[in-house]
Amino acid sequence: MKRYAAVAAIAAMLPILLVASHASAQEKLKVVASFSILADLVKNVGGDRTVVASLVGPNGNAHIYAPSPADAKKVAEADVVFINGLGFEGWIERLVKASATKAPIIVATNGIKPRERAGGNNGHAHDHGRSDPHVWQSVANAKTMVGNIREALIAVDPAGKDVYRSNAAAYLTKLDALQREVADVIARIPADRRRVITSHDAFGYFADAYGVTFTAPQGVSTDAEASAKDIAAIIRQIRQQRISGVFLENVTDPRLVKQIASETGARVGGTLYSDALTDEHGDAPTYIDLIRHNLKQLASALTG
Ligand code: ZN
Repeated sequence: MKRYAAVAAIAAMLPILLVASHASAQEKLKVVASFSILADLVKNVGGDRTVVASLVGPNGNAHIYAPSPADAKKVAEADVVFINGLGFEGWIERLVKASATKAPIIVATNGIKPRERAGGNNGHAHDHGRSDPHVWQSVANAKTMVGNIREALIAVDPAGKDVYRSNAAAYLTKLDALQREVADVIARIPADRRRVITSHDAFGYFADAYGVTFTAPQGVSTDAEASAKDIAAIIRQIRQQRISGVFLENVTDPRLVKQIASETGARVGGTLYSDALTDEHGDAPTYIDLIRHNLKQLASALTG
């Protein structure tokens, strides 16, 4: 009897609960981010006040992404859209135009001094743009992006000001700790061992911030193929410098790096996450997980 009463009471409340959750879902700010890493930064600041969708999903390659009609719909319905900029999303301008969205388009990397795409070892003349877009590989840059995201969310949704400020402050504290952790772990690797081969040149900001040298047969974009000459130069370099860290990436074809490893006898040290998170079952479902995973892989390959 008692049990029946309880069930009846819950049943009576159900319509109210449904109405309440429907209303709050409608009030949530609809946010679109261009790729998964940026979406995670936005989620950490937006919290419960926002619903965040990522255009390029986990393990997706933003360099060569082809937006779908569903993406145009997401952008059309968004209250605010965050992009990386620096030429990372070559497809975004057309998508925004096609969607006819009225949402502000926020460049999350504003205020970050970009590295020049010098071309490094290969200098592909046909690479588009002049800046290296992979700024998030330095935690200091991610902190700048979080500040930009906070200000943009406050501008679009001033009523959420206190929430966005406190979410951002809590997340920035975690990023401060992460930044110290990366610097500490890399500092313990002997300087002459800090040499790494990856498939595309996505770790320049990590290299500059923490003192590791990365070499890649593909340039900062993945749309250009590495030439036979570039590959031969890297193979020579691995042999001369006895580079022990050869890594795959989650967004690029692994065959090239595997070929280089087998020709030089270098061991493949694992996978580094460059331009995308993994899904929730992978090693890097969040930005903090991504940096920690890469750090662990580097430390074990370069000191082992
Ligand atoms: Zn990239």
